[in-house]
Amino acid sequence: MLTNRINILSESITIAVSNLAQELKDQGKDILSFSAGEPDFDTPRVIKDAAISAINSGFTKYTAVDGIPALKEAIANKLLRDNGLKYAPNQIIANNGAKHSLFNLFSATIEDADEVIIPAPYWVTYPELVKYCGGKVVEIQTDDTTGFKITPEQLQNAITSKTKMLVLTTPSNPTGAVYSKEELTALGKVLEGTEILVASDEMYEKLTYEGEFTSAAAVSEDMFKRTITINGLSKSVAMTGWRFGYMAAYDTELIKATKKLQSQSTSNINSITQYAAIPGLDGSADADIAMMKKEFIKRRDEAVELFNAVDGLSVLKPDGAFYLFVNIKEVSNDSLTFAKELLETKGVAVVPGVGFGSEGYFRFSFATGITTIREGIKRIDTFVQELQVK
Ligand code: PMP
Ligand code: GLU
Repeated sequence: MLTNRINILSESITIAVSNLAQELKDQGKDILSFSAGEPDFDTPRVIKDAAISAINSGFTKYTAVDGIPALKEAIANKLLRDNGLKYAPNQIIANNGAKHSLFNLFSATIEDADEVIIPAPYWVTYPELVKYCGGKVVEIQTDDTTGFKITPEQLQNAITSKTKMLVLTTPSNPTGAVYSKEELTALGKVLEGTEILVASDEMYEKLTYEGEFTSAAAVSEDMFKRTITINGLSKSVAMTGWRFGYMAAYDTELIKATKKLQSQSTSNINSITQYAAIPGLDGSADADIAMMKKEFIKRRDEAVELFNAVDGLSVLKPDGAFYLFVNIKEVSNDSLTFAKELLETKGVAVVPGVGFGSEGYFRFSFATGITTIREGIKRIDTFVQELQVK
């Protein structure tokens, strides 16, 4: 009954682990979950107020498929102010979360075994959507010895005549790696003279802790023309449940194509969310963002120190996002079993590295309170020491 296309798709492992942890908690079990890729903070007041005012003003009807003009203007202004990128309204579309942006983008551009280069470890959704659209995933493996970043040589070696797209995530989920302007420029140079598109997922932009954040499209005119910039507000202003993301591209035909797809699938995104997103984009929530960022830095620093004190584990200090990608190679070469047993015996939920295309690690989200983090790492320490004496 089911199509081949749907049968090859795997469920999101990040969501699966988070849901399992929640189910166990609901059954009354003592579970500490570090699996969720969502901030534990509340959505800022200014955003909630904009939503309430939209409801009270009756902005509860269908809108333009790609977003109301005020929202598109706010996105364009944000991209110019924060990223130095000049996009016109017809180069921008609002989607139901950045995941939906990626779905629309891949649907409009990938087919017939087109090759998509995805640096690993990667966020779980990219390879699945590429496969769903009929494309072929070409992984470039990275590890903690190179800061989880690809080099221009690795990129060059991965390119074939079938390469359609490169996916870049900066800051990265799951490693927190952030590409510098120089690194992005060097990668861009490799692509010069090709037709290869770049999907630049900048979802964790506002959670860059070290150095300056640079958009891939901002490093050269050539990169601006080939890059599709994807972003949203799920992480920066804790709006995961509101479902808002967007993409911007130089090629107006590409945006038009995704709008056509959206017009026949989801239509406009929730009208209330569109009004609420504006203060998330225009700087009105900057103080909230700064508060969350400060707290994430504190948690990151303490969690990194605690993990590196555990005999058998090691972790790099991430430059952005709210994840640690912890190396377990000294104690296990099977991250799925490691994570399963950790959950069963110690009630601690983490996401196995294998789900992100990199065996020998687990992802630990520090988007949770510091006392929970301390207790969680203590339990992980006990688990790892017990593993070593087995
Ligand atoms: N990109 C990355 C790298 C992510 O981690 C996520 C996590 N949800 C998304 C995109 C999608 O976010 P959303 O659909 O909530 O906008
Ligand atoms: N992106 C988040 C994560 O990596 C949310 C879950 C998902 O959308 O896969 O955990």
